[in-house]
Amino acid sequence: MADQVTAGETERADGDPRAAGSDEPEGPQRAEISNYDIVQHHFRQAAERLDLPDDVAEVLSSSYREVRVQVPIKLADGRTQVFTGYRVQHNGARGPYKGGVRFHQDVDLDEVRALAALMTWKTAIAEVPFGGAKGGVNCPATDLQVADKQRIARSFIDKIEKVIGPGRDIPAPDVNTDAQTMAWMMDEYGKLHGHTPACVTGKPIALEGSYGREAATGRGVVYLYREAAPALGLKPSDTRVVVQGFGNVGSWAARIIAGLGARIVGVSDANGAIRRDEGIDPDALLRHLAEGGLLPEFEPAEAIDPGELLEIECDVFIPAALGGMIHERNADRLNCRMMIEGANSPTTPKADEILEEKGVYVVPDVMANAGGVVVSYFEWVQNLQHFRWDEREVNDKLGGIMRRAYRSVAQRAQDSDLSLRSAAYELGIERVVEASRTRGYIA
Ligand code: NAD
Repeated sequence: MADQVTAGETERADGDPRAAGSDEPEGPQRAEISNYDIVQHHFRQAAERLDLPDDVAEVLSSSYREVRVQVPIKLADGRTQVFTGYRVQHNGARGPYKGGVRFHQDVDLDEVRALAALMTWKTAIAEVPFGGAKGGVNCPATDLQVADKQRIARSFIDKIEKVIGPGRDIPAPDVNTDAQTMAWMMDEYGKLHGHTPACVTGKPIALEGSYGREAATGRGVVYLYREAAPALGLKPSDTRVVVQGFGNVGSWAARIIAGLGARIVGVSDANGAIRRDEGIDPDALLRHLAEGGLLPEFEPAEAIDPGELLEIECDVFIPAALGGMIHERNADRLNCRMMIEGANSPTTPKADEILEEKGVYVVPDVMANAGGVVVSYFEWVQNLQHFRWDEREVNDKLGGIMRRAYRSVAQRAQDSDLSLRSAAYELGIERVVEASRTRGYIA
């Protein structure tokens, strides 16, 4: 087992090349340990506990296919620029590959590979019939004009169209991509293959998207809060919540949990952070942002240094930004009782240890943010049937799957005296091993 990363390894948060020189604000810089090392660490620990043979562990820890493509586009200002795109298909034993596409300046093969593997375990834990994949284009997404973003989306699909499709690999939105991006991707794929709505999920409602998909990941986070809260004696009306990252996942999680009666006492995004002990209205904050305001300018709230966000006393902390944000240097600053990981790989292994010592109850990404892929599965099913479910049906079915996943993981954690994360990885890996063996992929 090469490349083993142990939790004892030092994670240097300073000198992080992604933070230095980037346009992200000062604050909780991301750890130097990569997302790939984080995911591999958890896989290898679980593989050892499960006593997986080395050859099986090797198959499951490497990708089935990694595609690196040139994404050349003519920019709105007349220049031609070449971006790099990736699609990694990690494991397809349980069904077609499934995973989002991210547009971000930090995207690289290592990150996409990690996120693809995470999808394999996530779909298995949620018991939806997909494998794991991820894609990304390395581009300054937030500085792009809309027309350029569309060109990138279309060009990327042109380059990967041979390895995707409803029975092969189905992309979805992720960081800096949304329903509009999926509409362009579906349209481009349709030019080559005929109208095929099931080729991507997370589409707009007007283009055979599913009701409830946009809110699904945030809603899934809140379903898990409801499952886990009683163990900590938490009631929504007494729950104070801090949300790091106020994009799709963070803003929906904030709105839905506030709808239960919880108080949002701190929020951050790439432009800064705010706090207000009396509560921040997430709907008003969204309107403020939609009108062009910056998050730190939102009133009535106090602008704070993003690093201070971690220190706000709260019951639930929801990381919903990027990977590696909670690391060895800042985990001790967290002042929460429960952390529900909306983002992928927000917590490094060393930070996990610190949080465990502090007694923070961590609901891990592989289970906590599965709501998106679960409703993507519903969207794919609806597209294949050319039939639409109403939003209540989608949300009820999502709730059922999230509860089932939580209960099976929590039971295993209790029976084997493991963290939820370790138990979740074990369950996911066992299901993928079983599918791989039954197909005859592995002995
Ligand atoms: P998004 O682009 O809609 O939102 C990202 C948010 O993070 C933005 O508000 C951005 O300003 C903020 N952000 C960026 N850098 C930050 C920093 N340094 N500090 C604080 N905030 C920062 O993306 P999203 O779809 O909401 O995804 C967020 C996370 O959730 C990612 O890790 C993604 O992989 C994961 N995720 C998303 C989905 C989904 O359905 N969209 C599903 C599962 C997991």
